[in-house]
Amino acid sequence: MTEKYLVYLRKSRSDGDHETVEDVLSKHETIIQEFALKTFGNTIPDNCIYREVVSGETIQDRPMIKTLLDLIQNEPIKGVLTIEPQRLSRGDLSDCGTIIRAFRYTDTLIITPTKTYDLSDKFDRKFFEMELMRGNDYLEYIKEIMMRGRIASVNEGNFIGSVPPYGYDKVKIGKSYTLVPNAEADTLRMIFELYANDKLGTTMIANRLNDLGIKPRKSPYWTNASIRDILHNPVYIGKIRWNWRKTIKKYENGGIITSRPKSDPDSWMIVDGKHEAIISEELFQAVQMRFGNTPRSKVNHELVNPFAGLIRCQCGKVMIQQAQRKGIRTRIHCPNQKYCGNKSAACEDLEQVITEALNNIIKDFQSKLSENKPRYNTSSEIINTLSKELNILENQQNKLYDLLEQGIYTSAVFVARNEALAEKRNKIEAAIIKAKELLQSAINYKEMIVSLSDAVEVIQRKNISPKRKNILLKSVIKEITYSRKKDDSCKSYDPPIFISVSLIF
Ligand SMILES: [Zn+2]
Repeated sequence: MTEKYLVYLRKSRSDGDHETVEDVLSKHETIIQEFALKTFGNTIPDNCIYREVVSGETIQDRPMIKTLLDLIQNEPIKGVLTIEPQRLSRGDLSDCGTIIRAFRYTDTLIITPTKTYDLSDKFDRKFFEMELMRGNDYLEYIKEIMMRGRIASVNEGNFIGSVPPYGYDKVKIGKSYTLVPNAEADTLRMIFELYANDKLGTTMIANRLNDLGIKPRKSPYWTNASIRDILHNPVYIGKIRWNWRKTIKKYENGGIITSRPKSDPDSWMIVDGKHEAIISEELFQAVQMRFGNTPRSKVNHELVNPFAGLIRCQCGKVMIQQAQRKGIRTRIHCPNQKYCGNKSAACEDLEQVITEALNNIIKDFQSKLSENKPRYNTSSEIINTLSKELNILENQQNKLYDLLEQGIYTSAVFVARNEALAEKRNKIEAAIIKAKELLQSAINYKEMIVSLSDAVEVIQRKNISPKRKNILLKSVIKEITYSRKKDDSCKSYDPPIFISVSLIF
């Protein structure tokens, strides 16, 4: 063989998790080598085989495809063998464009066991593009499903992060992961005790650990920031906090840069974990209390009303909190009280009423969720079945191309059959979207229940600053309408408080 061929191998998500990268690559390699032997009379030498072992989404993140693209641009390569077009690109349009341009302008063939693509040929290029786009749809779909799986998994209290927090090891129980305390747990307890009981600052704690020769996980030394992160992490009282750091992708200098900044507290999710707590609730609260009481900014400017901007009187005015005075319960009132006739309420009473209202909404959501449970459960099965049907259709479409290529089908027959398949495909895709929506509504209910439960907890906790309470509540509640009128049927001085809550979702 005088002409040079390369092989590109990559595991994709469609291969599933039950096989390792090595297994998938060697399986594909066998298929491709058998094909090469049959077609060219010999196999491809090992130094011409490019095996992608990382799972990057873009060309930038996949070193082997980068090398391969460089090679075909600098050396006369006749063709690249791969198991299917989608293996070459799984990314966005710009990645697909890069691949197509590279192969097209270097006259390099893309050879798969079922079809050879010559991208200088318009017809082939179209087919190839279609294949790549199809791969991309599939990827987006898989990503979405995986993300939902993650949220559901957090709701169940599993640990879904990649690195376990200090003090814990990650262990697999059944299908999911959780945390178990390890030898670092003693140091962890010491950190909390030094802060809450011995009243040391975070810098002093870091220094003491460094003096004792105790090492953190990754960095050589403890810093006040790492101590602070630990002291704030509810994982140590058995909670799972998710969304704390979201991965953010940015397009910069021609590449995608990922970063993980700490996100807004209002997008956090905190649920009871399956794992054992290392720190008692009391100790954790004592630490948070001390954080709350340590003045770091001008306390005078802090918000004092946790419901600021959230409660509107029936008359339309936003309700305000009276200045705090010693010995008198703080009250919230309508500035228009004189005219609208709605009486003021003590903050504590209002908190009570709001808590009850939120609890009722939670109960309502929970019953909706359990009523429709069978429907939600079957919708994921429906998605599975339909996806399989979609796969069958795709295979049929592939065969169609082959029949056309082999001259068995005329263009007219091809177009007619292709249209029929496309119509079927649209129907199935529409049905999948419907089933996905149903599944999503179950997940939405679960998420809303978590957020509302958080809100209830936040209202009742005394150790959270009103400002933080306000931020957290505003992430769940859109507005509360308030009325408290004395009417003839009610003789008491304190008529009941009526509220209606509208939520953000
Ligand atoms: Zn009013």
